[in-house]
Amino acid sequence: MKSEQATAGPPVALPFLGGYPEHLLAQVRTLIAQDKLASHLHLRYPQRHVIRNDGALYEHAMALKQRYLRNAPLLAKVAYDNRLQVDQRALGTLTAVSRVQGGQLKAKREIRVAAVFKDAPAAMLDMIVVHELAHLKEREHDKAFYALCEHMLPEYHQIEFDTRLYLTLRTIEAARKDAAAGADPG
Ligand SMILES: [Zn+2]
Repeated sequence: MKSEQATAGPPVALPFLGGYPEHLLAQVRTLIAQDKLASHLHLRYPQRHVIRNDGALYEHAMALKQRYLRNAPLLAKVAYDNRLQVDQRALGTLTAVSRVQGGQLKAKREIRVAAVFKDAPAAMLDMIVVHELAHLKEREHDKAFYALCEHMLPEYHQIEFDTRLYLTLRTIEAARKDAAAGADPG
């Protein structure tokens, strides 16, 4: 099939890329139309990470925390979570459950990472972990927050954009699979 046919019709919706400038979105639509999004990402991120389970994920996050945020509050748990709905933009969460222990109020902090990142490139997993770790120190998504993210993971902003491309690609591939299987696209 020629690419002119693929570019016809309404522009592809890009739900993961809201807020990015139109010239970038146009480039993304071209990559999709030419079926080059997968190879574009594979070139930049050839390898998947090897952090297969919650124990390894906790160790990985703790190593980053030890290196960059030694004085930040303790983390009780870091885990992959199947219930985080990526289509609702919940890529990761940091929660603090408060409870009284020995007459003191203690907060048990947990980071959860959407399970889709089990199969992602290393930099993308790191982007999520670094984002949630930064929230141990900075609550809002402000300048100080993103400076801390960039400090822990250089090219944080580029990797976040590429992660959104990766999620877009997965959505497209899943839709194709459904179509090929003759499933109801509902
Ligand atoms: Zn956040």
